[in-house]
Amino acid sequence: MLYPQEFDVIVVGGGHAGTEAALAAARMGSKTLLLTHNIETLGQMSCNPSIGGIGKGHLVKEVDALGGAMALATDEGGIQFRILNSSKGPAVRATRAQADRILYKAAIRRMLENQPNLWLFQQAVDDLMVEGDRVVGAVTQVGIRFRSRTVVLTAGTFLDGKIHVGLNNYAAGRAGDPPAVSLSARLKELKLPQGRLKTGTPPRLDGRSIDFSKCTEQPGDGMPGGVNEGTVPVFSFMGNAEMHPRQMPCWVTHTNERTHEIIRSGFDRSPMFTGKIEGVGPRYCPSVEDKINRFADKDSHQIFLEPEGLTTHEFYPNGISTSLPFDIQYELVRSMKGLENAHILRPGYAIEYDYFDPRSLKSSFETRQIQGLFFAGQINGTTGYEEAAAQGLFAGINAALQCRGDAPWLPGRDEAYLGVLVDDLITKGVTEPYRMFTSRAEFRLQLREDNADMRLTEVGRRMGLVDDARWDAFSRKRDAVSRETERLKATWVNPRSLPAAESERVLGKSIEHEYNLFELLRRPDVNYTNLMSMDGGKYATNDVSRETLGDLSEPVVEQVEIAAKYSGYIDRQRDEVGRAAHFEKLRLPAELDYMQVTALSIEARQVLSRHRPETLGHASRITGITPAAISLLMVHLKKGG
Ligand code: FAD
Repeated sequence: MLYPQEFDVIVVGGGHAGTEAALAAARMGSKTLLLTHNIETLGQMSCNPSIGGIGKGHLVKEVDALGGAMALATDEGGIQFRILNSSKGPAVRATRAQADRILYKAAIRRMLENQPNLWLFQQAVDDLMVEGDRVVGAVTQVGIRFRSRTVVLTAGTFLDGKIHVGLNNYAAGRAGDPPAVSLSARLKELKLPQGRLKTGTPPRLDGRSIDFSKCTEQPGDGMPGGVNEGTVPVFSFMGNAEMHPRQMPCWVTHTNERTHEIIRSGFDRSPMFTGKIEGVGPRYCPSVEDKINRFADKDSHQIFLEPEGLTTHEFYPNGISTSLPFDIQYELVRSMKGLENAHILRPGYAIEYDYFDPRSLKSSFETRQIQGLFFAGQINGTTGYEEAAAQGLFAGINAALQCRGDAPWLPGRDEAYLGVLVDDLITKGVTEPYRMFTSRAEFRLQLREDNADMRLTEVGRRMGLVDDARWDAFSRKRDAVSRETERLKATWVNPRSLPAAESERVLGKSIEHEYNLFELLRRPDVNYTNLMSMDGGKYATNDVSRETLGDLSEPVVEQVEIAAKYSGYIDRQRDEVGRAAHFEKLRLPAELDYMQVTALSIEARQVLSRHRPETLGHASRITGITPAAISLLMVHLKKGG
């Protein structure tokens, strides 16, 4: 049957990429259909019930700044929040939350069900409708044909998915879900370049069988015994701590020599070590057998026991992801302190799946081969909910923009982690599942979690992604930051107006000449609250209205403080970006025949012909392209070649 309604955007897959893609396209006014295997699994966390962390938290805040769902759902479902790297500089500080799976999923589903312009439909997609070189819709398992102008594919780990436990394996999308076999075959037919990757998950434990008295408690921030008691962090710029459900601690135990012996005894039945698994796994998130094999000299590894929710006893033992046979899993779990009698609720496993080489995508995430077809999420070779959500939002935006006849939105590496993620994927591709780190962002001083809204909410509003409530809150904050910064810059004190005792108390020494308050705030030992305790109005040499002094919200104060303390570095970084901008955005002609650019080495010509970068900036980051090759290419372009 041909479904009677036509859509602008069809999103296939209701995981983290698919839900953000569908919500974004619908927010922008596109008539959007989300097709997924099972409505019950919308927003399901396939692996650990946690959102954020270093680099990943940055992505979540950016998705939020553009009106996305992930941060708000985490605020509604988060049972433990922490600010990682809180003692380090603001660029690497990151929010991480443990989520109640059920509450998280419920929040995502509610947002989807209440989103205007968005229709949900439960069915597996088995085929794409392609006319010429353009996608025109999708066909479901029972033959319903949905027509659309664009399709965003976010099939996660499901394409030809194969689960491994020891030497046993079976087809699945993840435990309990069917694989997408027909769709995988169809994509192979369309000759889109693809490969295999793998990822894994630990066995889950019944909390009633864990002896927590033998483990170390790890409270979240704001919890009794935790950092900043009484103040629980918040994820969304629109969130607040009242949205959080009851908070819970995590627990810590360790592997030991015996655990490692048990693990080694299973190596001969490990699908990884016996070559049953061909896909490459994530190096920085290795399975426990991989850790024991690679770091043989380490006699213990820390294992976090993370609660899966408020209404379940299930625990996620973070650090023992494994595809070893079940008998080995059983023994290795029970060899650890506190887990001597632990009951396993679900076995750990590894999953292998198809991914598509992201170097064959345009910078908008549209495939080069098939117009209107966009890929986002794990299918592009990444791992992680946050990476998936960010890509989904990005692809959803660009699909909606294409439907409007507008140019794609392409954030730069200096504007957003999202820009770094997209650029890394399309220029470098992946050799293992890609995850975000702050170290991937060369402009990380200006790409902070705390200013994601300042960087992105305005552009989000222009594209139609940001609703009035968020826009009002953002505008108030932006204006307050700018007013307060100006006020500090315009309020002067000098050695005569400021009593020495007051200066000693706040600044640690007396001042030698006239300063404005913004300059004083730059000093490492001075913070805003201290500075405000020095009565700026009274000691000022100029006329300052007392009403405007202090009493601003915490996020506003944070922005003002960071602007003062890091302005030197940030300005320098901005200059660097400015200098590189022309070169970065210089477009390379689509018809350029690199093989004719004889000044370049044969290798460089071949690499460029294969990748066909869109800009000189993209070209410069392709593996194998040297700065010398870029200079030669620039000379060639200047000559009008
Ligand atoms: P998914 O969340 O996989 O969602 C895909 C969605 O598409 C599902 O709703 C599915 O039902 C639907 N779908 C697929 N095919 C079709 C079709 N043909 N028709 C209709 N619907 C379809 N990440 C980490 O960061 N760290 C980890 O340690 C980690 N371990 C993992 C271990 C396992 C076993 C698994 C399965 C995943 C793991 N992940 C891990 C990855 C994380 O789950 C994914 O990165 C993230 O969920 C990807 O989001 P996504 O939206 O791209 O895909």
